[in-house]
Formats: sequence, structure tokens, C-alpha cells
Amino acid sequence: MRLSVQDEEFRHQVRQWLAENLTGRFAGLRGAGGPGREHEAHAERLAWNRHLAAAGWTCLGWPAEYGGRGATLAQQVIFHEEYARSGGPARVGYLGEELLGPTLIAFGTPEQRQRFLPAIAAVRDLWCQGFSEPGAGSDLAAVATTATLDGDQWVITGQKVWTSLAHVADWCFVLARTLAGSRRGAGLSYLLVPMRQPGVTVRPIRQLTGTAEFNEVFFDGARTERDLVVGAAGDGWPVARATLAIERGVATLGQQVAFRRELDGLVDVARHTAAGTDPVLRDKLARAWIGLEVMRAHALATVAAVDAAVPETAGPGTAATGTGAEASVMKLLWSRWHQGLGELAMEVLGAPSMVARGAPYDLDDWQRLYLFGRADTIYGGSDEIQRTIIAERALGLPRQARP
Ligand SMILES: Cc1cc2nc3c(=O)[nH]c(=O)nc-3n(C[C@H](O)[C@H](O)[C@H](O)COP(=O)(O)OP(=O)(O)OC[C@H]3O[C@@H](n4cnc5c(N)ncnc54)[C@H](O)[C@@H]3O)c2cc1C
Repeated sequence: MRLSVQDEEFRHQVRQWLAENLTGRFAGLRGAGGPGREHEAHAERLAWNRHLAAAGWTCLGWPAEYGGRGATLAQQVIFHEEYARSGGPARVGYLGEELLGPTLIAFGTPEQRQRFLPAIAAVRDLWCQGFSEPGAGSDLAAVATTATLDGDQWVITGQKVWTSLAHVADWCFVLARTLAGSRRGAGLSYLLVPMRQPGVTVRPIRQLTGTAEFNEVFFDGARTERDLVVGAAGDGWPVARATLAIERGVATLGQQVAFRRELDGLVDVARHTAAGTDPVLRDKLARAWIGLEVMRAHALATVAAVDAAVPETAGPGTAATGTGAEASVMKLLWSRWHQGLGELAMEVLGAPSMVARGAPYDLDDWQRLYLFGRADTIYGGSDEIQRTIIAERALGLPRQARP
């Protein structure tokens, strides 16, 4: 993929804006809120996100009428690269911006788009993803949460789990069974549910990192409006699958730059410690560098292929959902690489990495990276599930027996 002169100008513009704005009251936010650190400076990060939005640096690929700037996929990747390079803090609105927004652009009604997209772009509404349940993770079609119509409202009952950022979310996109007695994907609906109401209880789950990025969410007669269903009622399964493909694919295209910062930091540690002269660790660091180059090449090839395949007139949602097995290849590449980086960090730091630096559980960034990295091969669909998708869709092997 070649970047055009306009793309390079765009990169310059982004870099300059970030250099000028990640200063003053926002200067202390550099690097805040990363994996295992999502509890940090939420209010300040929210203010920063709104500052980004006011300057038009959220939802770049969306049409202007929904609060975006109609940027090309290449420009979106450039923005994410520059953002990571600047050390910008983890963005609080990414579930709305990266997952629900593109899904609504592809499947929402005009009213739903008008109502929700500008609020996501302006970072007024924060969203969470209510898919997984205690009995429905990899086997998501086993969702048991139900929603029934009561006049002009859906009444939702059931339990979700592992719901990231539910404790700060205003809304949740919920997969629920709306056709009584239905099984598997048939009869599921994709509902948009307000979180701040009596029928919703959020209970944090403490993670290995000592923090609680995700939650249990209980719906006990929670309500939402009848027309807040994305796609047809009872036909939410294809919509949910599109959200998952976005989560595994396009949404992750810019992240290797954040990974590069982490790897550079680790190499720097190795340069100044005995690890730098250990032949086995040197070999592993070189392999990590190569793995990152492979990931970047794959990401750029995917952008180029998607850009070439999507006609000018197609909306960004089309591009986002246009990946198939490639999204699974991307997920596997980054999850294994990033989890491996956490493990390598523990090796480079040696025995002291096994001890928290302070009581009761004061971890450093490398320990957080290692511990949160355990989740990389699980969320967004586990590695085993990605391999099944590749086997079936890319290699044409017989379908795995389904429960
Ligand atoms: C940090 C984090 C954040 C998350 N955030 C959210 C969120 O915001 N919203 C949300 O809805 N969910 C979220 N999840 C949930 C995530 O999507 C699920 O954990 C994931 O889909 C796996 O489901 P499960 O945990 O039920 O594991 P299971 O499905 O029970 O899997 C257990 C093990 O069995 C393997 N396995 C299962 N089925 C097969 C098969 N058919 N073939 C081979 N192996 C198989 C799996 O690979 C895994 O190793 C999050 C998870 C994590 C870790």
C-alpha cells in the first residue's frame, strides 16, 4: 500500500495537532488508561476525549452528517498510528466508536443513526457490549437473556458477564432472545438498552491486575423502546456477527504502533540490564521485532485490499464488515504476539518481576502488561475459535460439529 501526498499531509496535520494539544492540563494523560490501568483518570480522559471530538478527531471514517469526517481507511489507520505514537491515553468511548457505530451505519435505521451516532462522535454517550453470558461465550448463539414486548417497550431479563466498562456506560448493545422457544441464532435480537435505570445492576469483577475493567450486568425487567432494535426483531444474529468481525478486524488496524512503543520500551530495558547480553533473550527480542513487522505488513495489506474492494460510494460500515477470515488472522497475529510480549517482559526483568513493588498490590506497567495479556487470547473471540473460522472459511475444511 502506498500512501498518497494527501495522506502524508494528513499525517503531518494529525501529528501537529496532537503535539499542540496533548499539553497543559492534558499533558499528564500520556500513556494513561492502558491494559490493566483502565481505572486511571477516567474523568480527565473523558474531558480529553471530548476535546478530541470538538476538533473532529473521533469517528473519522463516518459521514459528516453523523459527526465524522468521511476519512479513508488509510487516513483512519494513520490517525491511530499517530495517536499511539503521541502516547495519547486509552480512549473511553471506543466501544461506541469502534463497534456499535459502524454496526449502526451498516444496519441501523435512519432514526437510530441520527439519534445515536452524533452522541457517540461527541463522546456524550458511552456504550458497552452486552453479548457474553455465563452459558454463552464462544458459543454465543446460546444466549439466554430474554426480551418480551410490553406495549411500546421491550422488557429484558437475564445476566451478561465480562461486560467491559459497563460501570461507566450510559447504554448497552444487548443480544437477547425475543422469540420464545427459539434456538441458536434464530430468534435473537440486537437491542439498544439504557444502563441508568432501576432494572439494571452492574457488579464489578476484580481481575488479575487487581482492577475491574469488566463486570457482571443483571437485567431484571429493564426496559427499552420498541424501535431500539437493530436489524429486524428476531434477526439480530447477522448484526451481532458483523460487530464481532469489526472487533477482530478493522478496529485493530492501528494498534501495532502502540505495540511498538511497548517493544521499544522493553528493548530499552534490555539495553541497560544483563538481559541485553543474554543470547536467548536477544533472540526472543529479535523475533518479537520480526513478529511486529509481519503484523504491520498484514495490517497494511488488509487496508489496501479492503480499500480496493469497496466502491467509493459504499459507506464505511461496508468496509468494516468486508473482512472474513482475514479478521481472524489479524486477531490471532496480534493476540499471540502481545501475550508473548508480556511473557518476554517478565523474562527480561528476571526474578524481581515476580514481586509487586508495593503493598497491597502495586504493580508496574510490565506486570500489568503480562497479567492483562492473559485476556488477549480470549476476548473478541478466543484463539481456538479464530482457528476454526480460518479452517472453515479460508481452507474450506468441513464444518466443526456444533452443539
Ligand atoms: C478482558 C475481557 C473483556 C471482555 N469484554 C467483553 C465485553 O465487553 N462484552 C462481552 O459481551 N464479552 C466480553 N468478553 C467476553 C469474551 O468475549 C468471552 O470471554 C469469550 O468469547 C470466550 O467465552 P467464555 O469466556 O465463555 O469461554 P468459553 O467459551 O467457555 O471457552 C473456554 C475455553 O474453551 C475453548 N472453546 C470453546 N468452544 C470451543 C470450540 N468450539 N472449539 C475449540 N475450543 C473451544 C475456548 O477457546 C476457551 O479456551 C470479555 C472477555 C475478556 C477476557
